[in-house]
Amino acid sequence: MPSFDMMSQQEGESMEKIDLSNGLEMPSPGFGVFQSKPGQEAYQAVLWALEAGYRHVDPAQIYANEADVGKAIRDSSIPRESLFLTTKIWNANQGFEAACDSFEKSLSQAAVDYFDLLLIHWPQTHTRADTWKALEKLYEQGKCRSIGVSNYTSKHLQEMEGYASIKPMVNQVEFSPFLYQKELLDTCRSQGIVLEAYSPLAQAQKLSHPLLAELGSKFEASPAQIMIRWSMQKGAVPLPKSVKQGRIQENFDVFRFSLSADDMNLLDKLDEGFRTCWDPSSTE
Ligand code: NDP
Repeated sequence: MPSFDMMSQQEGESMEKIDLSNGLEMPSPGFGVFQSKPGQEAYQAVLWALEAGYRHVDPAQIYANEADVGKAIRDSSIPRESLFLTTKIWNANQGFEAACDSFEKSLSQAAVDYFDLLLIHWPQTHTRADTWKALEKLYEQGKCRSIGVSNYTSKHLQEMEGYASIKPMVNQVEFSPFLYQKELLDTCRSQGIVLEAYSPLAQAQKLSHPLLAELGSKFEASPAQIMIRWSMQKGAVPLPKSVKQGRIQENFDVFRFSLSADDMNLLDKLDEGFRTCWDPSSTE
C-alpha cells in the first residue's frame, strides 16, 4: 500500500511524497508536460514549476520535449537527487531491442544519467511483454529507479502476472472526478501499484461544473484545485499540466485545505466515464 508523508520545503510549503513498492519516494503532485510545445514553452513551464515547488516532472518520448525538461532541471540548479523524472516508451519503440535503444536516446536527449520512473506509454498487443522485459533489464542495470505502465486496464495488469518477474510500481491512467475508475484504483491499491492520475483537470473541459464552484467557495479554492485535491485524497498522484505561471502555482497550492468525506462523496458522483484520451480497454 502506498503511504503518505509530508515533507517541508525551504519555502515553508508542503509537499506530499508517496512510497512506491520498492521504497522510492514519488513527490505529489507531479507536473505534466503533454502538449507543452518543445523549446521555450516547455522549458519555461518546467522552470516555473520547479520554482513553485514541484519536484516531479512527467515527460515522454512522444512529447518531444525531454531535452527542454532536462535543460530546465539543470538550469534550476536543484540537485538531481531531489527531483523525480519520468519518461515513457512510445508505441513505435516497443519490443525488447527498440525499447532499450529508445531509452538510451531519452537519456541522451534529457542529458541525465538515470530516470526515476520509466513507463510503457500504451499497451501494445504484440510487443508489450517484450517491452516489459526491457524495462526490467534497465531497472536491474540501475538506469531507471522504478518501472511501471500507463493506460493499462485491470485485464492488462492481470496478464502481466504471466510474464513479469518484477511487478509494475506505477500505472499512469486517465483519472478525474469525471472519470473515477474506482475498480482500477482498487486493483492497483491491492497490488501495491501507485496510480498516477493523468488529465486530472479533464483538460479543463469540466472546470465550470457548479459543484466545483460550490466547493471552491467553501475552501477559497479554484475548480482546478478542488479536482487536484480529490485525486490526491483518493491516493492517486495527479499530474496537472499548464504553461501559464499563475496556473502552475495555483495547481501546486493544494495543501492548505482538505475535502471532507461528504465533499469527496459528492465529487465521486460526478463520474460520467468522461475521457479526453483513447479508451485502452479495447486493446487486446
Ligand atoms: P490536464 O487535465 O492537466 O489539463 C491541462 C489543460 O488545463 C491545459 O489546457 C491547461 O491550459 C489547462 N489548465 C491547467 N491548469 C488550469 C487552471 N488552474 N485553470 C484553468 N485551466 C487550467 O491535462 P493533460 O492531458 O495535459 O494531463 C496532464 C499530464 O498527464 C500531461 O501533461 C502528461 O504529463 C500526462 N498525460 C499522460 C498520458 C498518458 O497516456 N500516459 C495522456 C495524457 C496526459 P494551459 O496550459 O494553457 O494553462
